[in-house]
Amino acid sequence: MSDVRVYLLDTGTLVIDGYHLYWNAGPGGEVRFPCYGVLIDHPEGRFLFDTGYDLEHVNKVLPFEKPQQAAEQTIPGQLKLLGLGPDDITHVINSHYHFDHVGGNKYCTKATTIAHRKELEQSHNCQPFERLGYSDLSFDEIGPRYELIDGDTELAKGITLIETPGHTAGHMSLLVALGHRRPMLFTGDAAYTKRSIDATIISGFHLDPTASVQSLRRLSSVAEEHDAEIFYSHDAEAFAGWQVAPSYYQ
Ligand SMILES: [Zn+2]
Repeated sequence: MSDVRVYLLDTGTLVIDGYHLYWNAGPGGEVRFPCYGVLIDHPEGRFLFDTGYDLEHVNKVLPFEKPQQAAEQTIPGQLKLLGLGPDDITHVINSHYHFDHVGGNKYCTKATTIAHRKELEQSHNCQPFERLGYSDLSFDEIGPRYELIDGDTELAKGITLIETPGHTAGHMSLLVALGHRRPMLFTGDAAYTKRSIDATIISGFHLDPTASVQSLRRLSSVAEEHDAEIFYSHDAEAFAGWQVAPSYYQ
């Protein structure tokens, strides 16, 4: 797809403990990591995958994650760098509905929201240990126009959602084919970092740890099959080497 562009939208950083990042492996201690969204500018629409966190929400509900987010590091702020606004987004997709992946959904009122049926259900009826993760469902209150999916789905030519459950009930990763480089595989929280995949270590946040391990392995095999470059969800070292908006991949 030679006329497709992929932009990484920097939406600030958070802090968690090393044992949450690497379950039963650690080391412990504060780890600051990036959060980001992915805009795919495609002939069939503008697709936004993950939207970062809402600063006010984190300050109120999870201040211990020590958010650092400049005004420019919001979805409207990032889109503005590209001469765009939230109304230009045709489709919103979230890897899952944890607060740090949905914070900017509420701005995109014109978009269709692609949701995994199980993720939508579970986020509204979650286990007690998932409550903080699913603490920002404010996007649901604006009355999004949902389109429900149940598994691997090709959204548009070269844009494919890959079901990677475990971290959450209906977690999805994203594979994007491009014209001038290797495909990009966005893992979402199925793989927080390179080490998560290389050493097969899941995060401490999960609904089903066994399914999480299977999803890590699935991501490795998808990457191999498509010769895709892997983009982890919360890897500070990797993120520092990537191009962020207004730069883009194509
Ligand atoms: Zn998550």
